[in-house]
Amino acid sequence: MVRYVYDFTEGGRDLADLLGGKGANLAEMTRLGLPVPLGFIVSTEACRAFLATGTEPGGMSEEISRRLSAVEADAGRRLGQPDHPLLVSVRSGARFSMPGMMETVLDIGLNDDSVLGLAKASGNERFAWDSYRRLVQMFGSTVMGVEGALFDRIMTGLKELRGAPDDLHLDAADLAELVEAYKQLIHEETGDHFPQSPAEQLRRAILAVFRSWNGERARLYRRREHIPDDLGTAVTVQRMVYGNLGADSGSGVAFTRDPATGRPGLYGDYLPNAQGEDVVAGIRNTVPLAELERFAPDAHHQLRDHMVTLERHYRDLCDIEFTIERGKLWMLQTRVGKRTAEAAFTIAAELADEGVITREEGLTRVSGGGLARLMFPRFDTSTIDEPLANGIPASPGAAVGAVVFDSAEAVRRAAAGEKVILVREETTPDDLPGMVAAQAVLTSRGGKTSHAAVVARGMGKVCVCGAEQLAVDTASRRFTTGDGTIVEQGTVISVDGSAGAVYAGAVPMTDSAVMRYLETGERPPGVVDTVARALELADGLRRLEVRANADTPADAVRARRFGAQGIGLCRTEHMFLGERRKLVEEMILARDDGARTRALDALLPLQQQDFVGILEAMDGLPVTIRLLDPPLHEFLPDRTELAVRIAATEARGEKPNPRDVELLDAIRRMHEENPMLGLRGVRLGLVVPGLVAMQVRAIAQAVVERTRAGGAPQAEIMVPLVGDVTELRLVRQEVEQVLAEVSDESGVPVHCPVGTMIELPRAALTAGLIAEEAEFFSFGTNDLTQTTWGFSRDDVEAAFFSAYLDKGVFAASPFETIDREGVGRLVEIAVAEGRATRPGLKIGVCGEHGGDPDSVHFFHASGLDYVSCSPFRVPAARLEAGRAACSEATTSDTR
Ligand code: PEP
Ligand code: MG
Repeated sequence: MVRYVYDFTEGGRDLADLLGGKGANLAEMTRLGLPVPLGFIVSTEACRAFLATGTEPGGMSEEISRRLSAVEADAGRRLGQPDHPLLVSVRSGARFSMPGMMETVLDIGLNDDSVLGLAKASGNERFAWDSYRRLVQMFGSTVMGVEGALFDRIMTGLKELRGAPDDLHLDAADLAELVEAYKQLIHEETGDHFPQSPAEQLRRAILAVFRSWNGERARLYRRREHIPDDLGTAVTVQRMVYGNLGADSGSGVAFTRDPATGRPGLYGDYLPNAQGEDVVAGIRNTVPLAELERFAPDAHHQLRDHMVTLERHYRDLCDIEFTIERGKLWMLQTRVGKRTAEAAFTIAAELADEGVITREEGLTRVSGGGLARLMFPRFDTSTIDEPLANGIPASPGAAVGAVVFDSAEAVRRAAAGEKVILVREETTPDDLPGMVAAQAVLTSRGGKTSHAAVVARGMGKVCVCGAEQLAVDTASRRFTTGDGTIVEQGTVISVDGSAGAVYAGAVPMTDSAVMRYLETGERPPGVVDTVARALELADGLRRLEVRANADTPADAVRARRFGAQGIGLCRTEHMFLGERRKLVEEMILARDDGARTRALDALLPLQQQDFVGILEAMDGLPVTIRLLDPPLHEFLPDRTELAVRIAATEARGEKPNPRDVELLDAIRRMHEENPMLGLRGVRLGLVVPGLVAMQVRAIAQAVVERTRAGGAPQAEIMVPLVGDVTELRLVRQEVEQVLAEVSDESGVPVHCPVGTMIELPRAALTAGLIAEEAEFFSFGTNDLTQTTWGFSRDDVEAAFFSAYLDKGVFAASPFETIDREGVGRLVEIAVAEGRATRPGLKIGVCGEHGGDPDSVHFFHASGLDYVSCSPFRVPAARLEAGRAACSEATTSDTR
């Protein structure tokens, strides 16, 4: 029989798939002998079964009753027992942490009777009513679906009436009044009553957690974080311990190292006399962990010990939630903590230096996505006097944008292309769409562990929180700074998430120190040095070479500095633009061979010089030059513009320019409905006489020129869009003839390997035949994705990809991250069949995916020799290729 419920003593962190991260880690802490309140976990399997059928899986409720009885027996009290109630919390816990995305209900077991029992047993009437009002509020919103803001409004109203600055100033009678008002609100809103039966409260709360897996917020978060939709969440049911029992109680969040910078040292926030989410919700300002010693010295020391134990056990930064109940410490949660990119590099390097983890393990804990973030520019504040405000540097980076005050406005403006900064007093999960849309998040309340901070860090988004001098007036859409400056919606500000500063206007940016290192080799200690060490380690481990896609000498120089081992794709089309367009037009309009040859002859030296520059920048390294790919009419003027010009001239009674007429005629002749599937790539080379010969001659003569100059040019010639081996054979014959001619003419032997792109399904499927003519393959995964899916790469992303992502057709755009099952399958077939024909065939990839961290792991696993990507992505690709080599068996988080 399937089991759905597990005790904390039964599991461990290796069971996170089944027990969720939170449940598995509670079990792990229990195993370590840490003080964890007793409880049990309803598995993700139960959730999946419930979501699939809409009903509780058979046997689940009996299992829950049995486990609950054990908790009751241990406590010596029953759930909701009127004279001395046992209370429990119900929390969600998925495989991957989804901060604040799904619901929690605390204090289950309270009702109109047991609240009195709790007051008596605890000797604290206020505490009992505070707990009850929390239950009614959380249950009302989470389980019964009443809008959370309606409860807040009642609370705010009462606070105003009593002149209470915060919730601590409401007494037991006030809280009892709130409970009544909340219950009435629930009845008005739902027509239903708040359930008085503890068993019903528990059952409904568990099912609500299950359902919250498919809530809009949670779905949005998963999409953004690429978390699969079919995992389901586990539910943790745990005996309540109380942080709201008075001054010697409280709750807090702690990190074993600073999650923003990675610096060692315990770090966290504590909120006296508070429960549950209070500390992260920013309702009152927290105190730093060090001050806990003042409130509860014993608990503070124990906590420090436990933090050391946990970090040693998990061998990583741990993030911890704890509660102190009348001086006694309880551990409520731990997990390997989220961190900024800077912290990830620093922590990995330090743990490796301390001998806690191996260098290779350290490498698996940093990511190309993180490295890319560290390459972002930062503000140049040398000319700025004073910030508008200072807050807590919660998530690093620099962002400039117009101030907005709510999520919907942020989404609206961002959709229209505007850069925005979301400013809130504090954020809640409802603000998630706005946070996604914004460049940065700025809050006036909350610490480094507030919702805004945690979520922003997870997204790699800039965040400053707890900027207390700011008075945020959401209703009037403005904020006021400490010195009285008023900043209205739409005003541009700059947010520095590394320094915790906010500036008026758009502050100019400077390169990041990591970027400076990559550009110049300047290597100061600190994060730059840890990045450099990680890259060196990756370079030593990786099997994949990393090349760059570059088609100018300047890009080639930069790519080489960034560590590129050659050029995997030099597109030649830009060489047909600008002033050279005229020559291309002449080539197209040529009426006879002579005219065409003259145009091609004029283009030849220009192309040759382009290649000389690139070969020089990459001297000694391979440079894969691709023959012209786009349809020729792309180089002609715009059809409508030209037609209008001619019509306007005629309307004035003048004779149009005959060249314009000729051009328009050519454009009309060459027009294609589907140019991406038309006369382009190798097809062009086969039907436009002289084109291939001209390009190859330019390449070969550039090689001769570089060789004579003492260089070591390594040009490779790549044929695009081949679908059949015959196409390649025909072009190759022409290529070889030209190479032989140039060798003869110059006396310098020119050898250029001739290979092909694999970017059509037919090419992949006939790769065994194509390899007979190809000395190398390079996957053009942009076109291969387009043609495998039948997606027009220029149209679909804007047209309907967001709907496809919403509906879960795919978790990420297949143009960004390789579609392993479809396009990836073609890659695997082509690799296997190509190498069966030609053992040792050199194979790379030069589509956008070559620089995508996740895809790099796939290409490593598929046995490719190299990835090629834009120069800026080269460092991240090097890192990921190294990670792929040392974590082959595991799937790595590349974000
Ligand atoms: C590709 O198709 O993946 C490719 C690299 O070529 P382009 O993007 O130039 O079509
Ligand atoms: Mg292509």
